[in-house]
Amino acid sequence: MEKCKIQNFIDFTRSVYSTKEIIPLHEPRFLGNEKKYLTDCIDSTFVSSIGEYVNKFELIMSDLSKTKRAIAVVNGTSALQVSLKLAGVKNNDEVITQALTFVATPNAITYLNAHPIFLDVDLHTMGLSPQALSDFLNEYAELRDDGAYNKKTKRKISACIPMHTFGFMCEMHKIIQICGSWKIPVVEDAAEALGSEFKSQPSGSMGLLSAFSFNGNKILTSGGGGAITTNVSSLGQKAKHLTTTAKINHKWEYKHDQVGYNFRMPNINAALLCAQFENLDKFIKSKEKLYNNYKSYFKSSDLNIVEIPKNTTKWNYWLISLILENKEQREEFLKTTNDSGVMTRPIWKLMYKLPMYEKCFRDKQENAEYLEQRVVNIPSSSTI
Ligand SMILES: *Cc1c(COP(=O)(O)O)cnc(C)c1O
Repeated sequence: MEKCKIQNFIDFTRSVYSTKEIIPLHEPRFLGNEKKYLTDCIDSTFVSSIGEYVNKFELIMSDLSKTKRAIAVVNGTSALQVSLKLAGVKNNDEVITQALTFVATPNAITYLNAHPIFLDVDLHTMGLSPQALSDFLNEYAELRDDGAYNKKTKRKISACIPMHTFGFMCEMHKIIQICGSWKIPVVEDAAEALGSEFKSQPSGSMGLLSAFSFNGNKILTSGGGGAITTNVSSLGQKAKHLTTTAKINHKWEYKHDQVGYNFRMPNINAALLCAQFENLDKFIKSKEKLYNNYKSYFKSSDLNIVEIPKNTTKWNYWLISLILENKEQREEFLKTTNDSGVMTRPIWKLMYKLPMYEKCFRDKQENAEYLEQRVVNIPSSSTI
């Protein structure tokens, strides 16, 4: 690839963000009531595990995701872990997910002493492939009264986690239909997809339970934080109980009825997040403009921007990406841009290439391997 093509991209990105400083991949923006709510939270002294901002955030979140219940938790990984547990994942079970994901997805499975099964993704969504899912189940699974079992390993297949890469939606209707016919609960990893919709259904509303993240690099941040959403009220109640040390409500007594977790989101983080939510639409609009700006730029360069999949009826524009010709072009692009202070990043290494997941089951991974070698993220922070 000619050096000047990359240099042009660097110059263009610098003009978009009008800065000579380092351009991060995705940085948070605090434009509204953040300081006001934080000050209010400090003045109230309720900065820790209970408080009005936590309650307020949970209502905002269930409203936005059109679910019966949202539970604030300490991060997205713990949201996944608890969602899997409540979906029924037990010791030595298997959980299906994609190999092209962030490491938190298989880690959450592993925390429950279950085994990840890594399947391929679709090229257009970069999320779990329904074809790979049904191929795997048809070959390996057997349906019993209490669910699906892997005929080879004799283990129960107790959940499936589709992950919405960069905010693009997986083919949810097919995944839910296939999993339904095998009695496998679906847990959405919607960590990257806050504000995205699949055929007008919000991310996090289609799984039995879903997990969101509000880490610093996500579209909205609470510093660190996460949420579980569900349309089953009883599961919502259990999620709240389990993530708050399983304490029975009582004015003064310490009664806990199981081994719970301290996975609560502190009120001070929720205060920051409540302010962030007031600007979600503004962020998405600004990022949409950024995407269209990049898109028209790349039309005249011969670098290819990754298009929005048609099934994603609303995209949150979280991370914008390019798909390069091959691994060599990718290396050159990453090196030149990062050397010039324009942050770009490769898509994740496939999970079975990490030492702790080397021995896990995986299918052919044709699409995941293709994408792994070619996809890079480019600066995607909102420009306001
Ligand atoms: C960010 C992220 C998580 C985990 O979120 P944390 O809040 O960092 O624990 C999980 N899955 C995916 C796909 C993510 O991008």
